[in-house]
Amino acid sequence: MSKVYAVGIGPGGEEFFTQEAKAALERADVIAGYTVYVDLVRDMFPGKEFFTTPMKQEIERCRWAIETACSGKTVAVVCSGDAGVYGMAGLMIELADQYDDVEIEVVAGVTAANSGAAVLGAPLGHDFCLISLSDLLTPWELIEKRLHCASEADFAICLYNPRSKKRADYLQKACNIMMEHKSPDTICGWVKNIGREGQEYNIVKLSELENEPVDMFTTVFIGSATTKVIAGRMVTPRGYEKHEDSYFRGNI
Ligand code: SAH
Repeated sequence: MSKVYAVGIGPGGEEFFTQEAKAALERADVIAGYTVYVDLVRDMFPGKEFFTTPMKQEIERCRWAIETACSGKTVAVVCSGDAGVYGMAGLMIELADQYDDVEIEVVAGVTAANSGAAVLGAPLGHDFCLISLSDLLTPWELIEKRLHCASEADFAICLYNPRSKKRADYLQKACNIMMEHKSPDTICGWVKNIGREGQEYNIVKLSELENEPVDMFTTVFIGSATTKVIAGRMVTPRGYEKHEDSYFRGNI
């Protein structure tokens, strides 16, 4: 059985790799992916064959990986963060189903929601959801609906692909929708270049978020009604403090 690993490499450098991701890349003969991600791992795995494709050639890249595996090589396709979160793991499983004898092994990675949350404090300490503002593959109406429903249900919301040059006003539109249900004073945070050179972050109110320097290399966190700032960190309480007595008596 030929094998392709779909490997999430985390947000940045080697320190964010899981041991499993490292082992998969060591086992691979060929490492394939979007140029930026392959460049992040190139120096760590000298002697491997590398195959890079530009953005928006995901189908070609996955097909190439599967066909190369069928020819007898072990291939790893690298994605940033987690390969299954707005990544290519699903597409690879779908495409591999059209071939005999090729197996996709998905290797979990640290997604931007988790690594960014750690920079801010603990913004995802209670129920939360992820929404991507990219309408390349999802109709904008559906994105709007999800923003409405998630805000109405008072989830903490983590936004991926929050703003690009072509979609300069999407974050503003999203903030306006969320403010139909959430207070403009809701605590929000953003982290840019998580785990990479130039990492920055800020904690602001929802009404201020649209004026922040958020771009495609940024992950945005919108709190729930209970989210607060404690010693400069963004925290969505799990609820322990309300139950302190019973918690320490072992009732939870
Ligand atoms: N598979 C990736 C997500 C790809 S979608 C993962 O699991 O993290 C691309 C979006 O993810 C970006 O627009 C940004 O919102 C977020 N993102 C990915 N890596 C990031 C990083 N290092 N710093 C900040 N945001 C990041």
